Order: sequence, then C-alpha cells, then structure tokens
Amino acid sequence: MNDAKGLKKYLALLGAFALLGLSGCGQEQPPETDSSAQAATERASDAGTQEASEGTTEAATEEHLDYGNQDEWTFESGKMQSPINIETSAAETMIEDGSLSLDYAEEIIDVIDNGHSIEMEDGGQATIAGRGFELMQFHLHSPSEHTLDGEYFPIELHFVHKAQDGRLAVIAVFFEEGTANAAFQAILDDVKANAETTVASGLSLDVAELLPANKSYYHYLGSLTTPPLTENVEWYVMANTVEVSAEQIAAFNEYYEGNNREVQPLGERSVLKYEE
Ligand SMILES: [Zn+2]
Repeated sequence: MNDAKGLKKYLALLGAFALLGLSGCGQEQPPETDSSAQAATERASDAGTQEASEGTTEAATEEHLDYGNQDEWTFESGKMQSPINIETSAAETMIEDGSLSLDYAEEIIDVIDNGHSIEMEDGGQATIAGRGFELMQFHLHSPSEHTLDGEYFPIELHFVHKAQDGRLAVIAVFFEEGTANAAFQAILDDVKANAETTVASGLSLDVAELLPANKSYYHYLGSLTTPPLTENVEWYVMANTVEVSAEQIAAFNEYYEGNNREVQPLGERSVLKYEE
C-alpha cells in the first residue's frame, strides 16, 4: 500500500519534470521520452524560424528598402563606445602620417567645476594627421578611463577638440605618480582659490607641461564618455605619461575621485599606433 503510493508520487514527480523540460528553454535535455523529443524538435524548428526571419529582415534591408516608410528604417549605434582597454601588442601601426601639432593658448578662459569634473575652457589649434581642430576645453578623470594592457593610471586628462565640420577629437593623457607638475599645480591652486566665485580666474599656464614630450599615441574611433555618449569621436591616447606628485593626485581626488566611465567592449574596431 505504502509502496504503491510512493510509486504514484514518483510518477507524478517525473511528469512534473517532463513538463518543466517542455517549458524551460535553456534547460538540460531530460531523458529521452516521446514528449521531450518532440519538445526538442519544436525548439529546433523555433530557432530555425527565428534565424530565417532575421535573414529575411536583413535581405529586405539590403535589397528592398521601403522608401515610403523611412521612419521604420533601423540604424545601429552603441558598438563604438569609449573608453576601452588598449591592448598595446594588438595595435596596428598606422600607415598614414598621423603627426600631431599642438598650439594651445596659455591664457585659460575659465576654470569650471561642472559637477562631474574640473574643466578648463581654453582655445588653441591642433593639427591631427593634417586636419585642423580647435581646442574647446580640457578636463580630468580620476582614476583613468582608458586602460593600457589592463592597467589604470591615477588621472587621465582629456583635451576636447572640434573641427569646422563638427567632428570631435579627444587627446587623452595619462598622469602617473612621480615628480610634481607646475601646470597641474596651477590648476589645483586656481580651483581652491576660486571655488566660491564665478569670476574668470585669469589663470595662465604652460599647457605643454600637461602633455608628454614624445607624442606617440594609440588611435581608435569611439564616443564621448559622458551622456549623451555620442559616437564617431576620434580618440588619440598618448602612449607616454606625464608625471604628477602623490600630493597633487590626492589634492585632485578631494574634488573628484571615481569620475571614470567603465571600460567598454572594443568589438570589431581596430586600434592603431602612431610612433613619433
Ligand atoms: Zn573626459
């Protein structure tokens, strides 16, 4: 009597598992029974249908564009985001002459605490691979946003440029702990002195001190690292670092620490290397 009850319970449980097998998508296949084999076939044909319909959509996009319903055309975005990890050994040598010529103004227009970084409004010209850009501003992230072979740096500076046609280019510089940097100190002093005022600081500094002497870089196409995360931004990440002192890093971190976006997948993109 008890045994028979037990067997019934066992069979009921078995049935329940078979049902679970039917409904669960990514579950392991239950032992071969007629119903589970059927379920497997159904799953397979489902996948086939999905694949086929995706193929059809793609073909339709390529061959039969519906010009009467252009609002329904889809576009791809989100696959060219910044920052990234730069795997230095995988970087391809740039074929074209990518030389940089930078001429930044020493008179800073304004120093702004914009709520997510310290930003210096500055003017000047950059010629990048033969094309002209105008410097808009530069600002700082702590720790770095980009990484080199997985390594973070204490601070990363971004010089943001715009071309006449609106194209954005950012030159990124890693700050490493070492000897104190006079230009960085001038920025820190200015921020401290003018924290409570909105008056233009009249700060003057040798911006070249915030750049490495050797301007070899890694180049790739990415995005802004703050919303709206706009893509098609040209990135030039300096291969050589600039030294700042441990005290200076600590002083900056009193304002902003952790204002770095997470590393994004490289995807299909190439990273080029230009050696000066
Ligand atoms: Zn930035």
